[in-house]
Amino acid sequence: AEAFNAAVVAGRQLNAYTVETPDDAIACANAADEARGSGELGALAGIPLGIKDLFATKGVDSTSGSNILKGFKPEYESTVTAKLRAAGAGMLGKLNMDEFAMGSSNETSAYGPVLSPWKRNDGGNAALTPGGSSGGSAAAVAAGLAPGVTGTDTGGSIRQPAAFTGITGIKPTYGRCSRWGIVAFASSLDQAGPMARDVRDCAILLEAMAGFDAKDSTSLDLPVPKWEAGLSSDLKGKRVGIPREYRIDSVPAEINALWDQGVEWLRDAGAEPVEISLPHTKHALPTYYIIAPAEASSNLARYDGVRYGMREVPEGGNLDAMYATTRAAGFGDEVKRRIMIGTYVLSAGFYDAYFNKAQRVRALIKRDFAQAFEKCDLILTPTAPSAAFGIGETTGPLAMYLNDVFAVPASLAGLPAMTVPGGLDAQGLPLGLHIIGNELDEQGVLNAGLAIE
Ligand code: GLN
Repeated sequence: AEAFNAAVVAGRQLNAYTVETPDDAIACANAADEARGSGELGALAGIPLGIKDLFATKGVDSTSGSNILKGFKPEYESTVTAKLRAAGAGMLGKLNMDEFAMGSSNETSAYGPVLSPWKRNDGGNAALTPGGSSGGSAAAVAAGLAPGVTGTDTGGSIRQPAAFTGITGIKPTYGRCSRWGIVAFASSLDQAGPMARDVRDCAILLEAMAGFDAKDSTSLDLPVPKWEAGLSSDLKGKRVGIPREYRIDSVPAEINALWDQGVEWLRDAGAEPVEISLPHTKHALPTYYIIAPAEASSNLARYDGVRYGMREVPEGGNLDAMYATTRAAGFGDEVKRRIMIGTYVLSAGFYDAYFNKAQRVRALIKRDFAQAFEKCDLILTPTAPSAAFGIGETTGPLAMYLNDVFAVPASLAGLPAMTVPGGLDAQGLPLGLHIIGNELDEQGVLNAGLAIE
């Protein structure tokens, strides 16, 4: 008990959880014990999971890392977490995240930053970010505070933090996991997925999370494949595409070296590397940072002081003043920046120049992938252009957005993509390898991940 309590206290110092729900996890473990031998154990019986704070969990604070939702306890359960529960999983708590999932470092959270359990091996004690926006999720798995967690990925938020913390995470094809009960950021991009210690755990968790849901109009009406049973690291006959546009000068040599090493690992597993071209890659980041804020500005209009969480009413103020005061007090700087960009690109005078054009470029990016997948079965790239950086080290929003350079194209195209740990950099920090699959080919992605891990 003493060792356990010490571990809990050490874990708290990472600030990974926003709410702890140990009773739930214990009740679930007890239920699994009772059911043992009855032949009715679910795939996740007794397994305690951490849940990113933007999943609605019945009766438990669900704040999406924002002050504006502080105190919001939903009356309902998100489809994904309900499915995990139905498979027998319990909940350890809610996991810290960038506010409304906007960020790549967990520094925009209203609960303060999450610390990575990793340190540079330079003898210094710099506090590193776990990446974001699923930073609490990543830190919890990396530090052993949860065997598996949920994340969401709009433009890299499962993959980049998993890479920064040396764990595994998969974003499935858009539509595999229901978005119902997940706080919406950019609805045409948001996807839930698991983060865990290895590929097999991710396959098991994803199988439990995925599946058709009539409550999400973009949910795919397809059976959930048996991904775990289909795991195989034999890649004979698979062609692995290496996109030449992902060779970016500013990316450190050790990341490109790891990428080359990843190609060799896949070759050893029987795959054949082929060079491919994704010519519109350079437009992916600007396209994402128009579409995501546009959708966010619309989705976040519902936080008005009337329906959820926080309400600030100025002395003698009218309804408009209440909206303005609540939103000014409730949203952080990054969220306000996105709302302003989003409303600007959607405004009558600029809609064609920005939002419409971004939608058209998005279609070209999607077409690039469709053409590439005529020549290959999978695509391998680095996950992020750097290893984890220090808290407070990033210089401004643009530098932060550049983190998503390898992750965002697959998001815009709605494709499944996964990160697996590839190795360590010179500072001893983890680097991830990123596998992108064709639509619905989670199995191919998982198998390539298995060959690398
Ligand atoms: N870092 C990206 C952003 O800030 C991606 C976030 C996400 O995937 N939720 O928008």
